[in-house]
Amino acid sequence: MLHIGCHLSASKGYLAMGKDALKIGADTFQFFTRNPRGGKAKDIDEADVAAFLKLAGDNHFTHILAHAPYTMNACSKDAGIRGFSREMMADDLRRMEYLPGNFYNFHPGSHVGQGMDTGISLITEQLNAVMKPEQRTTILLETMAGKGSEVGGRFEELRRIIDGVHLHEKMGVCLDTCHVYDAGYDIVHNLDGVLDEFDHIIGLEWLKAIHLNDSLNPMASHKDRHAKIGEGSLGLDAICRIINHPKLQHLFFILETPQEDLAGYGAEIALLRSCHQEG
Ligand code: FE
Ligand code: FE
Ligand code: ZN
Repeated sequence: MLHIGCHLSASKGYLAMGKDALKIGADTFQFFTRNPRGGKAKDIDEADVAAFLKLAGDNHFTHILAHAPYTMNACSKDAGIRGFSREMMADDLRRMEYLPGNFYNFHPGSHVGQGMDTGISLITEQLNAVMKPEQRTTILLETMAGKGSEVGGRFEELRRIIDGVHLHEKMGVCLDTCHVYDAGYDIVHNLDGVLDEFDHIIGLEWLKAIHLNDSLNPMASHKDRHAKIGEGSLGLDAICRIINHPKLQHLFFILETPQEDLAGYGAEIALLRSCHQEG
């Protein structure tokens, strides 16, 4: 069973996203918790959430993935931005409790010249400030391309963040295939080696989700420009090896490719289902 979906617009609510997912043969999806540029989140509509949960149950959806806004930077130099990031994450986690048992993904942040050590400690401070023992959401650190001063381009950095979090059993990692390739991990020619490295440094049991994207740029370019599946430097064969890998098959995959419309994602999902082998 291949669990796959794509990033969807949250503007019409959860039920609308669930229906869109069904239309394109998906059993999961990702959405922004609020405008990707930040700002206030819409209030939770409990009737919409209930209708979505029924639809998801009836149609055997797997977990869904919420994505924090890009403006969140837990390790900004600016205390105001750090405070804003903390408030957004606390509020997002509060709203996620209406959909218990799902995942919340965020970009660890950019240390903007303060250095990796300071960046990592500010990120763990934010997580320790907002996480609650009773929360039912797992927070995922996204693997990053290592653009500029981004934290999370190396597996070691993610390991250190997890190690600093008190409630680390509520943490996990979302591996973005475009980002790790851009960061210099050769998942095209040495997928087994990269997964072994992930396992040694972080532990594969922490890997909870995959962002499935091709990349416009070559390995180690640190650019973070997504391409459609099969139209970038990873290529369709490498991407099919990823979804079929015995150590990854149980995960769920989210497409974040530059599609113009839902039909574009539907075609990619159909393509990936055609190259998926039941293991
Ligand atoms: Fe992301
Ligand atoms: Fe991503
Ligand atoms: Zn990206």
